[in-house]
Amino acid sequence: MTRPDPTADLRPATPRVVRHYIGGEWTEPLGGGTYRDCEPWTGSVLATVAAGGADDARRAVDAARTAFDGWADTLPAERQQILLRTGDALQRRREEVVALLSAETGCGRRYATIQVDFSVSLLRQAAGLPYAAVGQVLPSDIPGTRALAVRRPVGVVAAIAPWNASLVLSGRGVVGPIALGNTVVLKPSEESPITGGTLWAELFAEGGLPPGVLNVVTHAPGDAGAIGDALISHPSVRRIDFTGSTPTGRRLAETAGRHLKRVVLQLSGQNPLIVLADADLPRAVDAAVYGAFVHQGQVCMCARRIFVERPIAEEFTRLFTAKAAALPTGDPGDPRTVVGPVINKWALSLLTRRVEEAVSMGARVLTGGTAEPPCYPATVLTDVPEDAELAFDETFGPVVMLETVDSADEAVERANASRYGLAAGVLTGDPHRGLEVARRLEAGIVHVNDQPVNDEPQMPFGGVKDSGWGRFGTGFAAEEFTELKWVTVRAEPRDLAF
Ligand code: ADP
Repeated sequence: MTRPDPTADLRPATPRVVRHYIGGEWTEPLGGGTYRDCEPWTGSVLATVAAGGADDARRAVDAARTAFDGWADTLPAERQQILLRTGDALQRRREEVVALLSAETGCGRRYATIQVDFSVSLLRQAAGLPYAAVGQVLPSDIPGTRALAVRRPVGVVAAIAPWNASLVLSGRGVVGPIALGNTVVLKPSEESPITGGTLWAELFAEGGLPPGVLNVVTHAPGDAGAIGDALISHPSVRRIDFTGSTPTGRRLAETAGRHLKRVVLQLSGQNPLIVLADADLPRAVDAAVYGAFVHQGQVCMCARRIFVERPIAEEFTRLFTAKAAALPTGDPGDPRTVVGPVINKWALSLLTRRVEEAVSMGARVLTGGTAEPPCYPATVLTDVPEDAELAFDETFGPVVMLETVDSADEAVERANASRYGLAAGVLTGDPHRGLEVARRLEAGIVHVNDQPVNDEPQMPFGGVKDSGWGRFGTGFAAEEFTELKWVTVRAEPRDLAF
């Protein structure tokens, strides 16, 4: 567990200082406070971070509003060049960013690299968005009237993002809106103020983004609510995009409803992976282990419940448990590590409490089940009662439940009993049967013959039920982050009735 860290030389020797980025300037918070951003693996201080509040958020929105008119009228080619140069800046800094992701969020090199590749690809795809905001010419029954549906940027977008895939999820919250001519205030998680926040400001500044188009406000743990409320209630904020937990998303949506603001919400999941009896067993085991334990289970799409058809259940359970038990655990800087540290001690204690509760209610631990701070080992449970919190609520961490089912129908029924509906996977030797199961699953995303953890910038990413509203994805961004305006034009005055 304590191998030398090959990326250590890329980490800063002394803690960084992270300030707000408002109107193109690095600025101190109005209240003057700071907090410490600590590394999950070593516990050492990575950065001293501006502890902002509602006034800082309002200042950032004002800066974004000031920048809006100019940015909205920028030629598409100019926006495109800025996005491409920002992508190049990230590509140039990839080794540094991988090391930062590992240090700040405890993710392994592989998952950090996936995040960098996704983000570069997101920026390059979004470089086409300035040309994608097309409208329509509409037929009109009024003689001499030409009618148009014109797409316009909405104004200031507030983006609130989590820590678990900090680079990707903050990137997804800001890149599409900016490409479409909006200006943004980004509020990263208190756990990832750099890789989910100020790093994006630095990259866009390198790409030549004008001041005020992207603003970043950070805050200490416990202060998110004041900033969130200030952002939502500010009259200049016209959209909120949020990725995070369902309870927080619900609270934001309630506030946004009161202010009649539209929200894109990407929330929690309790994702099923269904393994049918005709699946290729070794491949199914590999897929299931990846889907359950990538980034130590701290991905919203991770497989949380694996339903296996009875004829292969015993063999699947044996192979799956053995592979999970052997996953290298420890230093995220070691390229061999699969299960690194969980984000913080609260996450560790939640995992401990929920596993203990499930066991006290009759669940059996097949492997793992005891914290190894700051890690929680890959843990497989079975016979988890439906009323255990682990069974019905999302638990971010490397804990998965194995359940035997008598048929695909039973698997679908049990999967659909969840109040969540984010992602799912179906493993089968018969892709047509897989498609039929996919059709019946209540989820925003289903992969046949793959596990649930997948994303590409152009895909319609999002959930149903308590997993959220709206879709992220470059192909769908214009729907979420522009307004259609009906415009008519006449060359001659109209004959009116009086
Ligand atoms: P997670 O458990 O993944 O951190 P959260 O929903 O708690 O999920 O956090 C996601 C984002 O929501 C973070 O940026 C966090 O600071 C923010 N957040 C938490 N509570 C609130 C709130 N009351 N208002 C606005 N943002 C919030």
